[in-house]
Amino acid sequence: MNINFTYLPGDGIGPEVGEAAIEVLNAVAVKFGHTLEPEHHLVGGAAIDAGEKPLPDASFESCQRTGAILLGAVGGPKWDHLKGEDRPELGSLLPLRKRLNLYANIRPCKPYPALIERAPLKRERLEGVDFVVMRELTGGIYFGQKGRDTRGAFDECLYSEAEIRRIAIKGFDLAQTRRKKVTSVDKSNVLETSRLWRETVIDVAKDYPEVELEHLLVDAMTMHMLTRAQDFDVILTENMFGDILTDEASVLCGSMGVIPSASLSDGKTGMFEPIHGSAPDIAGQGKANPLAMILSAAWMLRLSFGLKVEADAIETAVANALEQNQTTGDLGGKLNTSAVGEWIAANV
Ligand code: NAD
Repeated sequence: MNINFTYLPGDGIGPEVGEAAIEVLNAVAVKFGHTLEPEHHLVGGAAIDAGEKPLPDASFESCQRTGAILLGAVGGPKWDHLKGEDRPELGSLLPLRKRLNLYANIRPCKPYPALIERAPLKRERLEGVDFVVMRELTGGIYFGQKGRDTRGAFDECLYSEAEIRRIAIKGFDLAQTRRKKVTSVDKSNVLETSRLWRETVIDVAKDYPEVELEHLLVDAMTMHMLTRAQDFDVILTENMFGDILTDEASVLCGSMGVIPSASLSDGKTGMFEPIHGSAPDIAGQGKANPLAMILSAAWMLRLSFGLKVEADAIETAVANALEQNQTTGDLGGKLNTSAVGEWIAANV
């Protein structure tokens, strides 16, 4: 198969972890008889430095055409003085999500046995944890009108029923392939958008009689995630609650350096990226852990190209690297970024 995708390394550690992932993808292509065809494009601060917009037209055109995007991370202090859509994150990530209609963001939480000791919770609270957060990504407060007037500042939070329905369907569809439970998280005791969220989720649930549905308020959920994480299967939530809860969930996994994410549209269009940012504090030092980026590449193979065996091979090699401590310093290992990439590439 011709694995043609758009590769956007971005800023900070993005290009470092990206190179490691490309090395692993090359090894997979050789082993399984595929051709790797990455289209390398600028995004974020790297694009700004080259005199372009944060999301250059050529980069967007490639994303639209290939429908499969592997992204490092964008942003950093160098561009923090910029305002609004001139900033790397606001000017590239949000428009990519919106213009490609990537409304379903999926992040897993399944602590690796080798990392349980690194997490701040007790072993008995982490063993058996295996949930996925299905976060709505193109609506809500991040995309509403923002501004300042004589009253102060405002950010509008708007959700249509259709927006809620389509993400709820994605959540229930996913639950059906797993342990058949959806936990919908909202703030329906206070917010009108949350009341519509809950009504719509209850309505969608009627089409999935075999899936158990539970509702939790977001403030309580922050607590339940630490005290009974084993109870969750698919956590379905809106944009901002999902942003916050997924960072909390990353703590259960021992490190954010091992968590990939997928942002999906209808059909096969998808963007795959680690959940961490551009880590400017360690950029250029070979310290960045590339596993989340390598796992994001595995997800791209599985979800955009249907290459399940190849994705499984990468995930097994990552689990073995963790078992054998072939890792970067953040996980207690001694390897640098590229050496981890080489180890995984040699072991797929
Ligand atoms: P961050 O995730 O970049 O870093 C947080 C901490 O985790 C830092 O100490 C960093 O060194 C460490 N870290 C992160 N990834 C690591 C890895 N792979 N290996 C080892 N250590 C790692 O978050 P931040 O510091 O809040 O943000 C830095 C920049 O990244 C900001 O400009 C922010 O806007 C941007 N950001 C971008 C994205 C994205 O592109 N999707 C996401 C989050 C933050």
